[in-house]
Amino acid sequence: MIKMTTGEKPTPQACRCVTRRRLIALSVLAAGSAHAQQAPKITKASKQLAGYIEKTPYATQTCVSCHFFIDPDDCEIVEGPVNPTGYCNYYTD
Ligand code: SF4
Repeated sequence: MIKMTTGEKPTPQACRCVTRRRLIALSVLAAGSAHAQQAPKITKASKQLAGYIEKTPYATQTCVSCHFFIDPDDCEIVEGPVNPTGYCNYYTD
């Protein structure tokens, strides 16, 4: 929970609010974690399920700027490898 003083607004960069995309991404991780109790392996979403594409149509939303990107070409929640210039429906900055 974000605590704010009177009149103070969070900047977009500082806000870690729960968005629909973040909620979906977290549920993918939770599903993987629930499965991990029986087998210690994290399940990642398939590229097809995530709607992954190799080249983003958005100027500022690419895998390399996503919260889940792992340099140089992996992702925490989608099966890799992923292209740094790629994009999927779980994109979170
Ligand atoms: S945008 Fe790229 S790095 Fe972010 S979740 Fe999707 S595949 Fe992973």
